[in-house]
Amino acid sequence: ATDFGIDEALKQLGIKDINDGTSTGNQWFSNGDTIESHSPVDGQLIGKVTTTTRADYDKVMEAATTAFKTWRIKPAPLRGEVVRQFGQKLRELKEPLGKLVSYEMGKSYQEGLGEVQEMIDICDFAVGLSRQLHGLTMHSERPGHRMYEQYHPLGVVGIISAFNFPVAVWAWNTALAWICGDVCVWKPSEKTPLCGVACQNIIAAVLKENELPEGISCLINGDYKVGEFMTTDTRIPLVSATGSTRMGKIVSRTVGERLGKSLLELGGNNAIIVTPDADIKMTVIGGVFGAVGTCGQRCTSTRRIIIHESIYDKVKDAIVAAYGQLRIGNPLDENNHVGPLIDTDAVANYNNALAQVVAQGGKIIVEGGVLSGEGYESGCYVKPAIAEADNSFPIVQHETFAPVLYLLKYSGDVENAIDVQNGVAQGLSSAIMTNNLREAERFLSVAGSDCGIANVNIGTSGAEIGGAFGGEKDTGGGRESGSDAWKVYMRRQTNTINYTTELPLAQGIKFDL
Ligand code: NAD
Repeated sequence: ATDFGIDEALKQLGIKDINDGTSTGNQWFSNGDTIESHSPVDGQLIGKVTTTTRADYDKVMEAATTAFKTWRIKPAPLRGEVVRQFGQKLRELKEPLGKLVSYEMGKSYQEGLGEVQEMIDICDFAVGLSRQLHGLTMHSERPGHRMYEQYHPLGVVGIISAFNFPVAVWAWNTALAWICGDVCVWKPSEKTPLCGVACQNIIAAVLKENELPEGISCLINGDYKVGEFMTTDTRIPLVSATGSTRMGKIVSRTVGERLGKSLLELGGNNAIIVTPDADIKMTVIGGVFGAVGTCGQRCTSTRRIIIHESIYDKVKDAIVAAYGQLRIGNPLDENNHVGPLIDTDAVANYNNALAQVVAQGGKIIVEGGVLSGEGYESGCYVKPAIAEADNSFPIVQHETFAPVLYLLKYSGDVENAIDVQNGVAQGLSSAIMTNNLREAERFLSVAGSDCGIANVNIGTSGAEIGGAFGGEKDTGGGRESGSDAWKVYMRRQTNTINYTTELPLAQGIKFDL
């Protein structure tokens, strides 16, 4: 078995062999089937989590709707104080939680720590924001009238998250939703249920210390059927869902059917454009980290590198050489660059993509393959692969959630590269490597990248919490995290106040009685 202090980490996080998967805060219960969580690192069973039944869910919703009435009248800066304490607890438990993220999901320990750091960062951001939930004031066209707008909380926010960011996505949503006055019900991915239990234990301690009621932070567990409890529930005005485009389309339809709001953070097909003026060294670091980091399982992972023909061979050779340096193995061992895929289904998708790219006319230039033998017993370790391909191949158009990188060639102007970059269904992250100001500005202009994220001289992968995060087209259009993303968790109300003894109507309409 892996011994990187996992047992100690599980103990500190309150993870048991069998865990209740439903919680309203400090109360835990669950009457559904059991999910077994196996580590992709070594295939070991980490623990079990019981799933949420319909009756369990209704109990959760009763607690949440009741708690909302108390939580919404607490002044926002005091809600911020609770989030500040939560951030503090995360600082104390950063190492065990980072370790669990790494062991249950398979990303490197450094990335696991980074994910917890993102949670801490969003808490800090939310604390400041709790004193800045500003609306505008407007000038009324009527004398003696005042107009302004204010933001009120929505109610119960449902959060559905993906396996690849098993803790941060929840925090991005929940830290903002809480300071906005909402209460939250979270369904983590069925592939990373223990991360959910650990997070709920951390916030439960804070809620208890502050003598807050059950229902402010709720956890439910299970597969899509448990997710559907929330998407069909009119008591949930906003469902924030992170995952595949396939899932997002279903969630959007179901929530839209009842005129609820959905915040969708879905798949990407992210590209880096490399122009003749690019810094090759920076391109290689940004491109390779983007393609193989988290074993290619980030929504912002680099899938395509679009290289100008004049420097194509030079860039290709440098990237291929860098792939030769990659060490694949236990992600808890800091010497390794690439850990495992999440499970053997993901390995099958990876194999399928490699077969497809060849069948569609591509050429493999860095061979892939599944690793076996000592250290690779889980069957989830694969070699990052590179293929030369064309943007029109169906497999290149598709997001394969694995370390398969496509090299594409462009000629002529940067516009041609931008057309290739935009020529996919997804619109999450994009980047250009260039020292040419004109090219960079064209890429960022109205006629440039159509993605939610467009970077210059950094890769596609990884984002800071200060900016709004999300993408267009098949990525779903949602924005989370920084900037004014908080507004999605609130409802806007326009207020007009008349402080005169007259009742003039808008637009000068006369109505005399
Ligand atoms: P997934 O779509 O299989 O599952 C995501 C979540 O949705 C899980 O919790 C799952 O149980 C739930 N779900 C699935 N169908 C549902 C339904 N019909 N109703 C309600 N809930 C449902 O995705 P995954 O494999 O866990 O994650 C990988 C995908 O997530 C990739 O496409 C990746 O790009 C995307 N992702 C996007 C972002 C982003 O911010 N844009 C971030 C992380 C991951």
